[in-house]
Amino acid sequence: MAGPECHEGVEGDVNKDYDVIIIGGGPAALSAAVYTCRALLKTVILEKKYLGGQLVGTELIENYPGFPEVIGGVELTQRMEAQAKRFGAEIRYEEVLKLDVENGLKVVTTDTDKYASHIVILATGADPKKLGVPGEEEFYGKGVSYCATCDGAFYRGKNVVAVGGGDSAITEGIFLTKYAQSVQIIHRRDEFRATKIYLDDAFSNPKIKVILNTVIESIYGKEKVDGVVTQNIVTKEKKDIPCDGVFIFVGSSPNTGFLGSLLCVDAGCHIETNIHMETALEGLYAVGDIRKNSYRQIATAIGEGVTAAIAAEHKLAELKASGKSKK
Ligand code: NAP
Repeated sequence: MAGPECHEGVEGDVNKDYDVIIIGGGPAALSAAVYTCRALLKTVILEKKYLGGQLVGTELIENYPGFPEVIGGVELTQRMEAQAKRFGAEIRYEEVLKLDVENGLKVVTTDTDKYASHIVILATGADPKKLGVPGEEEFYGKGVSYCATCDGAFYRGKNVVAVGGGDSAITEGIFLTKYAQSVQIIHRRDEFRATKIYLDDAFSNPKIKVILNTVIESIYGKEKVDGVVTQNIVTKEKKDIPCDGVFIFVGSSPNTGFLGSLLCVDAGCHIETNIHMETALEGLYAVGDIRKNSYRQIATAIGEGVTAAIAAEHKLAELKASGKSKK
C-alpha cells in the first residue's frame, strides 16, 4: 500500500500504482488482464472470493473454442490465471466496497485499501437468482443448492429435482445424473430456452424426467430437504414430490451493489456500454455478465474483456497526449 499522497487531484491514502484496475476475477477479467499486461500497463485484479466466478461451478464446457474435448471450469480457470500471471497481472483478494469518480479518476475502496486509476474495468459477474419460496433459505446447504459441480457428489443414489429451463438447468441436470438415481427437471413453461443439443441429451437420459408448466411453491423437510410442493400453472393441481435435494438454476443477478446508483440502468442493474465496453463514464468499462445485453458465454466474456483492454490502452494514450494523465 502506498503512503499518504495526492494522486492527480485525489487526496489521502491512495494506492496509485496501477494503470488498470480490474474488479472481479472471472474469465472476462483474466482475459482483460492478459491484454493490458502485454500492453505493459500495470494491472491489478481485485477479487473478493476466488478466481473463475461462475466458471468454477461449471462442470461441462463443450463450447469454448480450442478445447474439442470437454474441459472443466476449474481447469480452464487455472489456465487463464497462469496466463494472466505470466504477463505480470497482480491478483489481490479484497472486497470492493465502493467506486467513486473524482476529477475523472476512479477511486476504488476495498475492505483493506484504496486505489485510484484512470482506468477501471468492472468484471464482477453475477450470482445465482433465488426462487424466493418458503424453505429455500432455511434449507440452503441442507438440500438446497445452486451448484451441481459443488454439491452433486453428496447425492449419490438419491433423488433430486432441478429447477429451470435454460442451459444451466439442463447441463447441470445431466451432470447430476452422474450421482443421483433420478433427476426431475421442473420448468415453469412448456418450452425450454436451453440449447437443442443439451435438450436432446437430457430427453434421452433414462434418469431424467421433465415436469412442465410447473412451479415450486415450497421446499419442506425436518433437518434437511424431504421434498417440494409444486403447482401446475395450467391445471392448478398441487403435488408433493419427495426428494433429497433441490438444485435451482433460474438465472443470475449482476454483482453491482458496490456501484450504488452510479451506473444502474435496469431493475437488475445490468450496465450499459458502447461497443468498446465503455460505460457512460470515460475510462470505466464493464465486461461479462454484469453488462446489459451480454450473451453470458465464456467466449463472449473473454471477447468483451479483450475489447475493454484494447480500448483502455487507447484511452490511456489519449489521456496522456491531452495532458489529463501524467502516467
Ligand atoms: P437463463 O438462460 O436465464 O434461464 C433461466 C431459466 O430459469 C429460464 O428457463 C427461466 O424460465 C427460469 N426461471 C427464471 N426465473 C424463474 C422463477 N422465479 N421460477 C422458475 N423458473 C424461473 O439462465 P441460465 O440457464 O443460467 O443461462 C445463463 C446464460 O449462460 C445463457 O446465456 C446460457 O446459454 C449460458 N450457459 C451456457 C452453458 C453452456 O453452453 N455450457 C451452460 C450454462 C449456461 P423462462 O424460460 O420461462 O423464462
